[in-house]
Amino acid sequence: MRVGVPKEIKNHEYRVGLTPPSVAELTAAGHSVVVETGAGRGIDFEDADYVAAGATILPTAAEVFAGADMIVKVKEPQAGEIAMLRPDHLLFTYLHLAADKPQAEGLMKSGATCIAYETVTAPRGGLPLLKPMSEVAGRMSVQVGAHYLEKFQGGRGVLLGGVPGVAPAKVAILGGGVSGVNAAQMAVGMRADVTIYDISNDRLAELDMFFSSQIKTAYASKAAIAAAVRQAHLVIGAVLVPGAAAPKLVTRDMLKTMKRGSVLVDIAIDQGGCFETSHATTHEDPVFEVDGVTHYCVANMPGAVARTSTFALNNATLPFALKLANLGAEAAMRADPHLANGLNVMNGKITYKAVADDLDLPY
Ligand code: NAD
Repeated sequence: MRVGVPKEIKNHEYRVGLTPPSVAELTAAGHSVVVETGAGRGIDFEDADYVAAGATILPTAAEVFAGADMIVKVKEPQAGEIAMLRPDHLLFTYLHLAADKPQAEGLMKSGATCIAYETVTAPRGGLPLLKPMSEVAGRMSVQVGAHYLEKFQGGRGVLLGGVPGVAPAKVAILGGGVSGVNAAQMAVGMRADVTIYDISNDRLAELDMFFSSQIKTAYASKAAIAAAVRQAHLVIGAVLVPGAAAPKLVTRDMLKTMKRGSVLVDIAIDQGGCFETSHATTHEDPVFEVDGVTHYCVANMPGAVARTSTFALNNATLPFALKLANLGAEAAMRADPHLANGLNVMNGKITYKAVADDLDLPY
């Protein structure tokens, strides 16, 4: 198969679909790989590194799309990229369609087969291609929160871990999945006072066992969340309903009860956000303030640590990319139902029910 890797064009996105070591695996398996010039330069992968791995460098994205059967990316395709997709293309990347109707309609119109990283599943449950980025975003959310709690960043002037004689900050984590656990690990490491809220009792029990007395857990009822945001210095939104828009757990009314200078980090913003007052921001202009509360809502947080994130993502995507390249999309999905769960758009139709329902599009 001919595999194409364009340079990411979303604001401040330096990750890249394939690392040189991943390209080497594909070329060793007999596939050809074309890479847009400079695709990895932002994280110190030079064109020469890709050539050494067996790739051919092409000068434009248009030539990469024209010369490939499968496009491997990181972020959802932008309008100019959607315009270059053909019905015989296989697109393998994050899509996050539930909160993005124009993209969904564009992909339907293209006729391409689009497999979304975020809905591929694993035999033991979970979302293996979302996991590495959730690990990164979860770990980052605490360092970002700590930063914006500083006085000169507009924050309350609170140190997450406190000091001897001064109580630590209260951190409320909504959603105890992959990103929530990783956030908790960092917050615990900084000695904050951490509570995780979830609606899965099984998950709460696992978290209780895993963290022992280092954290508290609570069922995520409306009343519990209202009380949590009233007391918290840092609230991290880390919920996920797979393939669907995030539930709005913190309302505008709840926000009004928060301490001035406290911080919300909405990791779930890529699924529309779990705070009513959230809207997506970028690394260039990451925060805004509502009712004296700082909101950090960057939709591509892992882009800030793009080198770590690219390696972590490739560790997870490469086995699937190889399977798709070796067998072709249809046979690969027949052979692996977990990969088939990634299929979001095919032959002009949405093929993932939660996405179709959320966007009110035919399924
Ligand atoms: P996950 O599936 O591992 O965990 C989600 C948790 O939320 C589960 O434990 C689930 O029980 C819980 N949950 C669902 N509904 C809930 C509710 N109403 N109240 C409380 N808990 C609830 O998901 P994850 O991998 O941690 O991802 C979380 C979110 O972060 C997703 O939207 C994902 O797309 C997003 N994400 C964003 C970035 C970014 O850069 N902003 C990066 C990676 C992931």
